[in-house]
Amino acid sequence: MTLENCSLIDVARPAARRSIQSRVVWGSRVVTIGGDAPVRVQSMTNTDTVDVIGTAIQVKALALAGSELVRITVNTPEAAQAVPHVREQLDRMGIDVPLVGDFHYNGHRLLTDYPACAEALSKYRINPGNVGKGDKKDRQFAQMIEAAMRFDKPVRIGVNWGSLDQELLASLMDENAKSAAPWDAQQVMYQALISSALQSAQAARDLGMRPEQIILSCKVSGVQDLISVYRGLAARCDYPLHLGLTEAGMGAKGTVASAAALAILLQDGIGDTIRVSLTPQPGEARTQEVVVALEILQALGLRHFVPSVTACPGCGRTTSTVFQELAKQIDDHLRSQMPVWRKQYPGVENMKVAVMGCIVNGPGESKHADIGISLPGNGEAPAAPVFIDGEKALTLRGERIAEEFQQIVQGYIERRYGGASTVA
Ligand code: SF4
Repeated sequence: MTLENCSLIDVARPAARRSIQSRVVWGSRVVTIGGDAPVRVQSMTNTDTVDVIGTAIQVKALALAGSELVRITVNTPEAAQAVPHVREQLDRMGIDVPLVGDFHYNGHRLLTDYPACAEALSKYRINPGNVGKGDKKDRQFAQMIEAAMRFDKPVRIGVNWGSLDQELLASLMDENAKSAAPWDAQQVMYQALISSALQSAQAARDLGMRPEQIILSCKVSGVQDLISVYRGLAARCDYPLHLGLTEAGMGAKGTVASAAALAILLQDGIGDTIRVSLTPQPGEARTQEVVVALEILQALGLRHFVPSVTACPGCGRTTSTVFQELAKQIDDHLRSQMPVWRKQYPGVENMKVAVMGCIVNGPGESKHADIGISLPGNGEAPAAPVFIDGEKALTLRGERIAEEFQQIVQGYIERRYGGASTVA
């Protein structure tokens, strides 16, 4: 075969995203969402907001893990009173991550009665499905929008199929039943989710809210449903979109379902900020949802947060678990150092490290990385060639290969990303 017989293959690239851009601000920290801003990562605490110290500690952990916005529950007068204290505590700790207030049922009262809470939050989440019923609905929704305009905060109009506006759904179901060619119930549900978001956005605009203050979401828990709904929503508006698979579940199931749904939509250019709604497994850190969100964006090449470690899965050619242990040590080391390295070694997040188990793919993969090691497999000489910037640089031997390789990686980072002062 020659290239003459072939046609060019398109290089996969994510499609362009929304044009409207929102700004979420705390002090001098400005997080832009939409437009040409990078896809933002957000998360939510699971502490009782009344527990000021516990909430501040968890917000700090989420922020240090890479969350650019953190949402907290504001469900009672006590929680609303606690919000400014959580903010103060974070400011004292040097954590300027913007806080988002999650309101349901009584947000109109809390935002009106507790102005210090309204001021300390940088964004409000409004769920149009439970902002009020009957003639109270419009009035209470308007109160929340007016608070957002008074304090100059953006809002997320966040529809969720678990709390979808039942009056709207019933009216669309009625209309559908009278139609000559009725849609199936799933289609009506999709339209109800999208209509709830768009009608609420229009109501906010009619009250005087600027389009840049509005972010939309329509969360569902099924992967195919999420893809359908967000494609429909994106086609009908230009507001920045908050994207997430709600109630994704635990462990591998929640991680894979979130990654599958978000990857397809992000590749379509749909999603300006993401949240991964994982149920923590017993003993698992809340920050896991941030780790997964970062990995999704990094795997798609949309953003880079930590150096990537390429490691082979191992097979019958691997003589021991040395390469698995080394890959894990390197990965753990790189991740643990990133909060410091982010400032100390700008650009280090783009670095690629390869840790490979044998000669079959080891040298090739290592040459593609910035720095890589090919460990000896079954029957190979007990030597581990190290490749730096595509060239074989040295060979390690003996019992201390892991420690020596870690030192080589550290030296490489200092030379390449440390600036003139740290070049050896
Ligand atoms: S690089 Fe070698 S050890 Fe690793 S999976 Fe491939 S053949 Fe197996």
